[in-house]
Amino acid sequence: MPKILLIEDEAKMAKLLVNDLKLEGFSVETAADGQAGLEKASSGSWDLLILDVGLPKLDGYEVCRALRAQGSRVPILMLTAKSQDTDKIVGFQVGVDDYLTKPFNVLELVARVKALLRRAPSAGDVPAYTQGAWKIDFRRQEAWKGKEPIALTSKEFQILQYLIAHRDQVVGREQFLRDLWQYEELPSTRTVDNQVASLRRKLGWDEKSKGAKILTIHNSGYRFVD
Ligand code: CA
Repeated sequence: MPKILLIEDEAKMAKLLVNDLKLEGFSVETAADGQAGLEKASSGSWDLLILDVGLPKLDGYEVCRALRAQGSRVPILMLTAKSQDTDKIVGFQVGVDDYLTKPFNVLELVARVKALLRRAPSAGDVPAYTQGAWKIDFRRQEAWKGKEPIALTSKEFQILQYLIAHRDQVVGREQFLRDLWQYEELPSTRTVDNQVASLRRKLGWDEKSKGAKILTIHNSGYRFVD
């Protein structure tokens, strides 16, 4: 049963959402301000956070920024009363995964929650990968083909780990930007293409390779198969 932490100061809204999410089979706990929410989020193990922007003590952005600074990769769905794009950019910069603007339909909330949970099993779950002569250690950031070290950049390690964690799924360029760059450097999707091309070249995992390979899915992104 996926565990959700709902950080929302409006009691009525919180109660409504807890009921709906429980009906969908989620286990839900709540916190009513940013400080309590941050403490609960940092101390427990959660599959997803639903985080209101306007909160007493610490606002939603501050909570999110603090969690990411602690290294938490928990998916975060932010609830906002505003629909301005500037708010979304701030949110993505601090590491929010998705947004929902109030007032919203509960069915839409549930759909977003499910989508985030599907995407969630994350790169951190893949500490290492071995395939034929290739050996990749993501914790130490070392890659080898037989006895030959392969010099990958830290971003290339991240991309590869992310692709392997999402193996057999198409990973879109926007998804890479959101999860690995978090829009911090405002790169273009072209940056993703260049990094993937370099990774493929260094490993030799192109479309024609027999074992592991990184496929280009036309107009959508990339897929790792082995
Ligand atoms: Ca609020």
